[in-house]
Amino acid sequence: MKTYSIAAIPADGIGPEVIEAGIVVLKALAETLNTFNLNFTNYDWSSETYKKTGAYIPEGGLEALKKHDAILFGAVGAPDVPDHISLWGLRLAICQPFQQYANVRPTKIFRGTESPLRNCAPGSLDWVIVRENSEGEYAGQGGRSHRGQAWEVATETAIFSRHGVERIMRFAFETAQSRPRKLLTVVTKSNAQRNGMVLWDEVAKVVASDFPDVTVDKMLVDAMTTRMVLKPESIDTVVATNLHADILSDLAAALAGSIGIAPTSNLDPTRENPSMFEPIHGSAFDITGQGIANPVATFWTAAEMLAWLGEEDASKKLLDCVENVCERGILTRDLGGKATTREVTDAVVAEVERLGA
Ligand code: ATP
Repeated sequence: MKTYSIAAIPADGIGPEVIEAGIVVLKALAETLNTFNLNFTNYDWSSETYKKTGAYIPEGGLEALKKHDAILFGAVGAPDVPDHISLWGLRLAICQPFQQYANVRPTKIFRGTESPLRNCAPGSLDWVIVRENSEGEYAGQGGRSHRGQAWEVATETAIFSRHGVERIMRFAFETAQSRPRKLLTVVTKSNAQRNGMVLWDEVAKVVASDFPDVTVDKMLVDAMTTRMVLKPESIDTVVATNLHADILSDLAAALAGSIGIAPTSNLDPTRENPSMFEPIHGSAFDITGQGIANPVATFWTAAEMLAWLGEEDASKKLLDCVENVCERGILTRDLGGKATTREVTDAVVAEVERLGA
């Protein structure tokens, strides 16, 4: 029987609450199915650690992390630490050296939940957004001169390399090809951005010729927002730059009912480094410590992690159990219900245990 070593980094805000729930459910699943084992190692890297020690990740931290098969991540961000410090100090400090260049964000409407869109039933919105996760607008290039002066200048340079664009396009085409509709929308802004985005379009066209069975269309990012709202059924797989997909996937999560549902995977498709799995939502300080955070995004995240590790059957079963619980109306407040994090977790564990009965 295979044993997977999982690094858990709950970090900030509701991160520890939802990761704890995720681990409870994963352990119940492993015990019930008895086809694989999971070993969890907890890393207490967070904004608290940063405030105490001046670093999110201690020396040797990344080497330790590299030994695991996967990373289960909560959320990073604290009201008294600037967002760019926390993001670059922890999340991007893992994603970038581990070359997790593909960020995958599936969204769908779960049975038992509702989209804020009128007439959008489960099935009419079932998307996967593939986000370029290593360069583009978040490459970290740029600088500031003449700080504090009236003539201060800041630059933020978006980087698009042929290598970086080609590998994300290839990954997106493969993702589209693996889904029944084999439909890919390439999001761009090449009308206004004449260099990087034009290279993006050109490479998409070249890669498309290797995937004749995938239908491709091209969409400007602004037009894509309206299409997502007005014609959700016309979309299946989407590929977009780091910034564009960041924004579109939050819209996607909201259109599916709540930001408390959607997962995201930071993948190194070469499998040289462990990949990192996290709920799409942030630290949600407004509800931290109240026991009402929706753990569903973390459960779906856990299912995505299992699929990446090769445990597709367990992944499908877990997601089914979660949807069954939603369908029975056991929902947290963000989905219009009254259940607590604990109640949803207990219900999913009970559903998982029924698999073994
Ligand atoms: P970040 O900058 O880290 O993305 P944010 O504050 O912009 O964080 P979130 O932390 O995702 O965004 O929170 C946005 C809103 O969604 C908040 O009102 C929060 O309470 C709510 N929310 C986020 N996650 C959940 C969840 N799991 N369950 C319930 N509500 C949630």
